[in-house]
Amino acid sequence: MPQIVDGKAISAAIKEELKAEVERLKAEGISICLAVIQVGNDPASAVYVGNKKKACAYIGIESLAYELPEETTQEELLALIGDLNGKKDVNGILVQLPLPAHIDEDEIIRAVDPKKDVDGFHPQSVGALCIGQPGFVSCTPAGIIQLLKRSGIEIAGRECVVVGRSNIVGKPMALLLLRENGTVTVAHSRTRDLKEVTGRADILIVAVGKPKMITREYVKEGAVVIDVGIHRNENNKLCGDVDYDDVAPVCSAITPVPGGVGPMTIAMLMHNCVEAGKAQ
Ligand code: NDP
Repeated sequence: MPQIVDGKAISAAIKEELKAEVERLKAEGISICLAVIQVGNDPASAVYVGNKKKACAYIGIESLAYELPEETTQEELLALIGDLNGKKDVNGILVQLPLPAHIDEDEIIRAVDPKKDVDGFHPQSVGALCIGQPGFVSCTPAGIIQLLKRSGIEIAGRECVVVGRSNIVGKPMALLLLRENGTVTVAHSRTRDLKEVTGRADILIVAVGKPKMITREYVKEGAVVIDVGIHRNENNKLCGDVDYDDVAPVCSAITPVPGGVGPMTIAMLMHNCVEAGKAQ
């Protein structure tokens, strides 16, 4: 049987470490505050925002919630971000995506002060990651590096294949694996022979957004398989981009869905907030 990479346990351990660190910082008179902005009432976004607020409360980070109506204009949102950028007692700013269609997401992301960009989406944060300078890293891929390291899985020198090239998962994932000295290939919808490419992977990271697309024909015997996807199947049960039951018997380690990558994203957001507080 493969090693089950337990994101629930690893994220819980990270949160405990952060909680202790926040207590130490408080004793030195440093408190940390995250501003969370939500525009409109998308139910999924409301759940994500609620979970982030809960995690903040658990760790001892103050959270300020800005729940703005769907009709909020670009200018109003920019004004709020400008205001929060200027506030010394706000360390991190998170704008929950997606934003309503009339708002230019890229401009909003660029408006956040890179020192408060705890999501790691600002072009300056992405550029810093690209050239190996310090900066905030997108939470999901940063969480995957923690999952691998804390499960004792070696990255250096190994063939790493990332399927998916989105700005929030695939691309930063590839850059982080490279930083860890993996030999990295990025596959996407125009990749010619996907099975041949994924079949080379010692570490296969899947972020395609297609339920159960990756079956055992895509996986080398003994590979480590990390599944970023989250979907609800016809029975309302969660599943990933990897067909877990089919792939688990042939790999050496695998993340379950739920309980794999998912819980790591919020843990790494909390990590970024603590780093922002320390740096300011
Ligand atoms: P996107 O839809 O932005 O990107 C999907 C990527 O997969 C694209 O680069 C696309 O290629 C590629 N792709 C699509 N179909 C194929 C195919 N048949 N063969 C090869 N490549 C393909 O998704 P995200 O990166 O935002 O998210 C991916 C998944 O991860 C989703 O299920 C999402 O819900 C989940 N997710 C989970 C998170 C968590 O916390 N666990 C956080 C973020 C996302 P191309 O660029 O050519 O179109």
